[in-house]
Amino acid sequence: MEVRTRFAPSPTGYLHLGGLRTALYTYLYARRMGGKFILRIEDTDQEREVPGAIEKIYASLAQAGLRYDEGPDIGGDYGPYIQTQRKSMYLPYAKELVEKGGAYYCFCPKERLDEERAKAEAKGETFKYDKHCLHLSKEEVQRRLDAGESYVIRQNIPATGKASFDDILYGHVEVDCSTLDDNVLIKADGLPTYNFANVIDDHTMGISHVTRGTEYLSSAPKYNLLYEAFGWTPPLYAHMPPVMREDVQRDKETQEIILDENGKPIPVVRKLSKRYGDPSFEDLLEAGYLQEAIINFIVLLGWSPRNEREFFTLSELEQVFDLEGVNKSPAIFNMDKLNWFNWEYIRRLSPERFLELATPWIAQVLPENFDYARVAQLLQPRVEVLNQIPGFIDFLAEMPAYDVSLYTHKKMKTDPALALDVLKQLRPVLLDQEDWSESALHETVLAFVSRLGIKNGQVLWPLRIAISGKASTPGGAFEIAGLLGKEESLRRLDKSIAMLEG
Ligand code: GLU
Repeated sequence: MEVRTRFAPSPTGYLHLGGLRTALYTYLYARRMGGKFILRIEDTDQEREVPGAIEKIYASLAQAGLRYDEGPDIGGDYGPYIQTQRKSMYLPYAKELVEKGGAYYCFCPKERLDEERAKAEAKGETFKYDKHCLHLSKEEVQRRLDAGESYVIRQNIPATGKASFDDILYGHVEVDCSTLDDNVLIKADGLPTYNFANVIDDHTMGISHVTRGTEYLSSAPKYNLLYEAFGWTPPLYAHMPPVMREDVQRDKETQEIILDENGKPIPVVRKLSKRYGDPSFEDLLEAGYLQEAIINFIVLLGWSPRNEREFFTLSELEQVFDLEGVNKSPAIFNMDKLNWFNWEYIRRLSPERFLELATPWIAQVLPENFDYARVAQLLQPRVEVLNQIPGFIDFLAEMPAYDVSLYTHKKMKTDPALALDVLKQLRPVLLDQEDWSESALHETVLAFVSRLGIKNGQVLWPLRIAISGKASTPGGAFEIAGLLGKEESLRRLDKSIAMLEG
């Protein structure tokens, strides 16, 4: 069997991370099996469509490295790949289904349906269409169609018996037909609903494996009834568990944290959602996460290679990914883990590549006369996410205000009084220093330390604080002094001495 998988997003906005994971698994499975990966845009719900969203999907998949073999923008033998452009295909299939008894025309006006729905709700029941129009004679249907009455076409679900299918992850899934509603397949505007379009498209596009979120798990038996009614072989299904996030309960409207009677936040595990501020794929890229790190992190949200291995490139994943390794239970999204992956990937970049990626971030705070390459070298081992860069180095552009308590450091055995003493003695030494390279500064300052007979830290700690104003910096005293240059370093030193003198 030729493996053909499809990613079928609706153009409703950005690519959320759950969607990216589905796309990734769908892509990887096709590659692993030597099959084809297809992009299909499901835009039959025109009211939910967001302008520009289709282009965003193309861009995001490209940025993720998920090349599709067929799709709206590249074509293929099974096109068009946008559902609204396939509009004329669906009605003939729906008519065929009516002939076969798997569907029927329904002319019920909205008022009647609203009334029936209200009655059901009053009784505390979920509304199910009562098959009212199933019993219209052929002649009557034809007469009303000829008269141009508005209609929909509904699926004719058997009143009794079971509908079922087998899922690669969840096994045999079965529901009582009596619980299923005669869903609309073709709407009054002539467009198919998702319920119908997904079946027609998957069949006519020769899709062998349908991979999508578990929100479709309970509908899939119903779709299988459609395949049966047509006499078609259904595809294989693998529904993917949702991606969850540990959070605390919040008010739906205001997002304020809800507290229990003891004033404590109430932990919850909820679906990953932009509404709660969870990042989309685009957000992560924009914040300075590397595409490779995101992919590596995402693939492990619910899939495991069944060994300890953690690092995979996309092309390595194409060799090893399997659907059997996908875990049925929901995956938990952990930002710390993503940050760790990103840090690992940043650490492994060549210095040249890191400089290239870091430059726009450095340029946000440092003028061009700074030695960007040296700054990048100092940053690379510490940066988890590129957007941290400005905050790490802004002290180089401007000396921040700081508190003298920073001079107190137990391990370095230093405090403000000692710092003042040391810095005052160090100042003339630095003033005399002609060679301002890091190595020359290193030599001079260490010679000064041994003349004083104190510990390295008792000089290096105060010096770094005095010229950076920060307890933690990329690089130490020499690197910072080197980057600042002699004039600026001495200016900062003087200001700090004045401050210590109170
Ligand atoms: N268009 C659906 C969605 O965006 C996809 C469902 C499917 O893959 O069959 O959720």
